[in-house]
Amino acid sequence: MNAEIIAVGTEMLLGEIVNTNAQYVAKLLARYGVPSYYQTVVGDNSQRLTETIQLAETRSDIIFLMGGLGPTLDDLTKQTLAKHLGLYLKTDAKAVAKLKAWQQQTQKKMPANNLAQAYYIDHGEVLSNQVGLAVGSFLSWENHHYFILPGPPRELIPMVDQAVEPRLAQLVGVQQVFASKMLRFFGIGESFIADQLQDLIAQQQNPTIATYIKDYEIGVRVTARASSKLAAAAILAPVVQEIKKRLADYYVGEGENRRLSDEVVDQLKAKQLTVTAAESLTAGLFQATLASVAGASDVFPGGFVTYANQVKSELLGIAPEVIEQNGVVSLEIAQQMAQFAALKLKTNFGLGFTGVAGPDELEGQPVGTVFIALANQQQTIAVQEYHFSGKRNEIRNRAVEAGLKMLYD
Ligand code: ATP
Ligand code: MG
Repeated sequence: MNAEIIAVGTEMLLGEIVNTNAQYVAKLLARYGVPSYYQTVVGDNSQRLTETIQLAETRSDIIFLMGGLGPTLDDLTKQTLAKHLGLYLKTDAKAVAKLKAWQQQTQKKMPANNLAQAYYIDHGEVLSNQVGLAVGSFLSWENHHYFILPGPPRELIPMVDQAVEPRLAQLVGVQQVFASKMLRFFGIGESFIADQLQDLIAQQQNPTIATYIKDYEIGVRVTARASSKLAAAAILAPVVQEIKKRLADYYVGEGENRRLSDEVVDQLKAKQLTVTAAESLTAGLFQATLASVAGASDVFPGGFVTYANQVKSELLGIAPEVIEQNGVVSLEIAQQMAQFAALKLKTNFGLGFTGVAGPDELEGQPVGTVFIALANQQQTIAVQEYHFSGKRNEIRNRAVEAGLKMLYD
């Protein structure tokens, strides 16, 4: 049994969007050991889609079609497949009811074509859409199996997890379930992680371990398989624990879609602690990052953007002589910014950011030199000199993440 993935959408051919759906489905196929030799992107064009399906049928057993289930005229995936197979389209009563309810609720006039979202192919099954209005479809017909899935990833992903995976498992005769965790690490390179986990990775069969580079973090995905969820979780747990132990200094939480800022806000909230910041080179980016997390107001009352030296003196009360003596890009100024900020707003913690984002050097310090301090109202808790690489905004972003890591416990 092998599988082939076809993504339908002119936007992908124009380079406007990336085919992340294919990646998601491909990973699923790989997990189940289903060989997959071809992935195609084809535009919203019925004739070219038919040709693509015809070709896929000559070489693959399972065919995934993704995108083009919507109500607009360029959405014609189900229609095209039905015509190609000589089958009727039927409308799913539940999906029609959902469409009508949606129309009532939003007071929108339903264009006739909206009903196309409720279509499924005769002799096939409806795959319900938990997020959107267009239903998916599964059909086994003349030696081939077709999965027809919506384009928007937020609709496709839950449909793959809930409706496609069990059907695929049945098709390929695998009676296994998976348990998986994404562990995230900061301040450490991928090769260093691979080194630390070498023996675990070398003997990886079950669970498997894979590393990924994320924006400013490294992700380690651990996946176990067994005959039940419980058994898979039991295989997963000790390996997860061992990895966390080995890399404890760099661990910043688990979960695919979480960020360091989420972890920091949650931690501070749990401990009922507050934080503020005085920012020079990042000019508010750290505070904006904190505020992007829901519930940040519990831990973050506000803070300071102190770009110019004069503002550092006026807003924070740092003596101009101290700036002159130490230079503004210095350990001393980072510490004073952190502590004075905490004092001013009476928070548990203050962070101070000063550095050279570039493009030009400052006070003889090279681009990428950044000092970050963490203080309470009495004293400095930690202070660190960094030398970040990259362009101006990369350096600013790295400084923000390093500040978050300093705060993360
Ligand atoms: P809709 O009801 O939103 O029209 P649809 O099933 O008709 O959904 P498309 O019209 O093909 O899907 O795509 C809708 C949007 O979904 C695209 O603009 C794009 O943002 C996203 N999308 C579609 N296909 C993919 C893909 N293969 N990978 C990632 N994103 C995709
Ligand atoms: Mg569409």
